[in-house]
Amino acid sequence: MDAQAPGVHQGEAIVRVTRVLVTPADAAVAERREFRGVLGSQFVGVVKQITVPDSAPPSMSARKGWVGKRVVASPSIACALCDLCRAGLSAHCRARKVLGVWERDGGLADLVSVPISALHLAPDSVKDDAAPFAHLVSGALHAANMLRSEQKSYITVLGDSAAALVAAQVLARMNASVRVLSARHDRLRLCERWGVKHRPIDEPGRRQDQDVVVDCTGSAAGLGLALQMVRPRGIVLLKDPAALRPIPPGTKADLRGWADPVDLTPAVVNEVQVLGSRDGPIPDALRVLSEQTIDVAALVSKRVRLEDAPQALRSLAGETMTVLVDVGDR
Ligand SMILES: [Zn+2]
Repeated sequence: MDAQAPGVHQGEAIVRVTRVLVTPADAAVAERREFRGVLGSQFVGVVKQITVPDSAPPSMSARKGWVGKRVVASPSIACALCDLCRAGLSAHCRARKVLGVWERDGGLADLVSVPISALHLAPDSVKDDAAPFAHLVSGALHAANMLRSEQKSYITVLGDSAAALVAAQVLARMNASVRVLSARHDRLRLCERWGVKHRPIDEPGRRQDQDVVVDCTGSAAGLGLALQMVRPRGIVLLKDPAALRPIPPGTKADLRGWADPVDLTPAVVNEVQVLGSRDGPIPDALRVLSEQTIDVAALVSKRVRLEDAPQALRSLAGETMTVLVDVGDR
């Protein structure tokens, strides 16, 4: 996390970071010790320098004028060459790198180098404190899109994380009968404030009557509960912000909680669809954030300076949803 200027390569931009959002998913990356680079997959900053190759298409060449502009990065960096990229599935690029997670330094530093193709302009209406939430919002929008064509009268969101509360707010915009089940009263109070239905997770109705259960617990236990709540032929949608790391063939992803056993009998007997869902388009998320209909300020548990970020990462625990790291201003 030192302040050394990264090298500027063709097709890359140097971004002066202003804010970084740190969540338990970052703490999990640090704990797994597979990644030795700079953490921080969710950040906003100002383009300091940019190098666009002469061969770049016009859409990229136009980014030469982005010096001095505020930007957010898509954490997943696709190769644009593999079979999945060429098939339009660049989110699942076989050779993808992930800022702050996998083979690319993230934003928990004064400066970070980012491929220009991964950058998105942050509208002025999305302030520095809100812009780093673009990734979480994009994941919630992606989930909403996956559910859009389905019967979705009754939706339950399981979980205590910022991802769960962002998903609940986004889904509540399209369906008033969304409810949140959380183990934490402070989270339930936030739902109360937003007008989102809620109840403690220890008293759920396990009546197999929910059309959709969005499980943001990141655990087999959450999936087990979801399978008891969803109706026959319903959908369990699994979200886990810690699932950013790709899984190269023959390796294990080692996501905490998912390695535990889970009884899938209800999925078979009740013909339940279990869908995985990850992140979505950052520009859509920035558009939603600019409308200021999603409360992300309430999801910041504390603010720290960059030098205190390592300590904050180590102490991320139950009551802490996110830490906003103040790196500096423009
Ligand atoms: Zn690829």
